[in-house]
Amino acid sequence: MNRQIPELYGSMIFSDKVMRKKLPKDMYKALRKTIENGTHLELDVANSVAVAMKEWAVENGATHYTHWFQPMTGFTAEKHDSFISPSGDGEVIMDFSGKELVKGEPDASSFPSGGLRATFEARGYTAWDPTSPAFIKDGTLYIPTAFCSYSGEALDKKTPLLRSMEALSSEAVKMLKLLGNKTVTRVSTTIGPEQEYFLVDKELYRQRKDLIFCGRTLFGASAPKGQEMEDHYFGALKPKVSAYMHDLDVELWKLGIPAKTKHNEVAPAQHELAPVFDTANVAVDHNQLTMEIMKKVAEKHNLVCLLHEKPFEGINGSGKHNNWSLITNDGVNLLDPGRTPAQNIQFLVFLMAVIKAVDDYADLMRISASSAGNDHRLGGNEAPPAIVSIFLGDELTAVLHSIENDMYFGKQEKVQLDIGAHVLPHFVKDSTDRNRTSPFAFTGNKFEFRMLGSSASVATPNIVLNTAVAEALAQFYQELEGTKPEDMEHAVHELLKRAIRKHKKIIFNGNGYSEEWVKEAESRGLYNLISTPDCLPQFIVEKNVDLFTKHHIFTKDEIFSRYEILLENYVKTILIEARTLLEMLTKDFLPAVSAFAGQTAKNAASKKAFLPTLSMPAEEALVTKLTKTYTDLTDGLTQLADLVREAESIDDMQKEAEFCHTQILSRMEALRLTANAAETLIPDTLLPYPTYDQLLFSL
Ligand code: ADP
Ligand code: MG
Repeated sequence: MNRQIPELYGSMIFSDKVMRKKLPKDMYKALRKTIENGTHLELDVANSVAVAMKEWAVENGATHYTHWFQPMTGFTAEKHDSFISPSGDGEVIMDFSGKELVKGEPDASSFPSGGLRATFEARGYTAWDPTSPAFIKDGTLYIPTAFCSYSGEALDKKTPLLRSMEALSSEAVKMLKLLGNKTVTRVSTTIGPEQEYFLVDKELYRQRKDLIFCGRTLFGASAPKGQEMEDHYFGALKPKVSAYMHDLDVELWKLGIPAKTKHNEVAPAQHELAPVFDTANVAVDHNQLTMEIMKKVAEKHNLVCLLHEKPFEGINGSGKHNNWSLITNDGVNLLDPGRTPAQNIQFLVFLMAVIKAVDDYADLMRISASSAGNDHRLGGNEAPPAIVSIFLGDELTAVLHSIENDMYFGKQEKVQLDIGAHVLPHFVKDSTDRNRTSPFAFTGNKFEFRMLGSSASVATPNIVLNTAVAEALAQFYQELEGTKPEDMEHAVHELLKRAIRKHKKIIFNGNGYSEEWVKEAESRGLYNLISTPDCLPQFIVEKNVDLFTKHHIFTKDEIFSRYEILLENYVKTILIEARTLLEMLTKDFLPAVSAFAGQTAKNAASKKAFLPTLSMPAEEALVTKLTKTYTDLTDGLTQLADLVREAESIDDMQKEAEFCHTQILSRMEALRLTANAAETLIPDTLLPYPTYDQLLFSL
């Protein structure tokens, strides 16, 4: 098997190797040019590629093709067309044209568009993204595409991502040129998303409506053991889990997804997978595929893979870490502190641009990680707080301090010194004292954004980050423009000093989980946007609309439509959860409470009949408690049902979302506590659902 892996790897993608083999030389060259420089693809090239792609796909068992896209649902979408084409004599040939490759027209009217489609053309089209390789899955050729309306509005997550990569590349190249770099023509964003997930037994999963409808448990008493022994993190893999992970790796490798690291996570039944990083749009496609294949492979192993951010109360939820950096087309990582003065200047400018970007647009970064599911994690002492800040580590913070104060790094005396002369400490990757509590950490040669929820699309935070960094670079450029080359070092030094003074408030190297930080952050004037309804209105404030429109990432209409979609999604999620809880408690849990109260009372009565002098305080207390629980739950459910009705009658979506957050979720939380307490009284045989100990410890 092992010797076959290099052969197996990427065997299901239309790879460079396949292209080279199947395409005429000039066509291959033209396609490479499009892939590398983003140039327009001529129709004859498209036709040639289509023929090669179809041939390869059919050889590998494909009968259909699909334009694969990422609408705003957060999932991926596909509509399959077969290659067959009648040849007129009652027979068919397998056919696929350049036009079909380049453009598709799914009937898109049912995808969320946040009102865009009312104002614009109803139909959308998909456009091939040649920079992300096509692949075969389940007998279908998948063509990665972007999804737009005919009037050009983005209806997906990929279009703005590609736009943001362009914006960043162009600002970064401009800056590099200004700093004297003569070779770079393109800068790409690279992403390595670490993905956390839970595995549960399929049979047990099927018995819980909350897992089925909401992806998370809505109540359930804690198991006697949680994660307190810290024995699961990096622990030995159980055979069932190990078999699953192996199959998962193989499936991912076939699709050219470089799954690299796998291990057990902190919570019982929780695991993680990390790939080797890739160009942003490819990494985003890969992460979407990874999530899908995680679920599919689990199915085969009689497991269910949960990607919800908080499937179980009382133990850690799942996140996704977005490792992010910038790489030039000649292979230089711009966030890697170099060893020469010129590299130092370059590094410091880009580092400072990221710091500025995150400080200026911390609210957008927060929004990019917001969802109903992730609200359960952020600030919950397991994930970074809802406050966005940057961890730089002591060394780098000291470097900035010395620049700000015109001091030699590592010495205390004051000297006028330009940055090129500074010797930057060489940061060893994987340095040990990495701060796990920071939402945005510098980790040696990249930044790691840790706020994301496990089910999120990684497109969103990277759209924000790329655009915000593009803007920071554009502003720096304006400040430096016109400087003579011999004055550049000094000018950069002065620029950095100004920027450090202005933005150092976002830098925090301490414990992000602490209460003191919340207070400190407030005094620094940082945002603390607790919930999704709290942060979403920031999406449409002027500075953020200006940012996105200036860099042509979103039009104003696109921003407002996205804001609406996010709100709507939040409201729908909470209402589905509320209805599920109503149903589970009313139909299944209450009868169990009642049955056990009745049984206890009946047993007590028969004991009493047998021995009339018997006193039974324990039984009495139990029946009283169960009866009280029954009443409390019934009352709570009535209130919850009323609140759901009230929410549904609110016209203003923002208000409805806030109502869901403040009224419905807190009512659900109260019900959860009551049900959890009752669950501990009732024997397993009478409980209608598998409990936490079964769900978390049965594999
Ligand atoms: P940890 O769990 O300690 O954060 P991992 O090794 O699990 O580290 O994950 C690090 C992730 O960062 C991997 O996906 C890796 O490919 C990615 N990564 C490394 N270098 C870069 C880079 N230059 N740009 C983007 N991602 C990167
Ligand atoms: Mg990490």
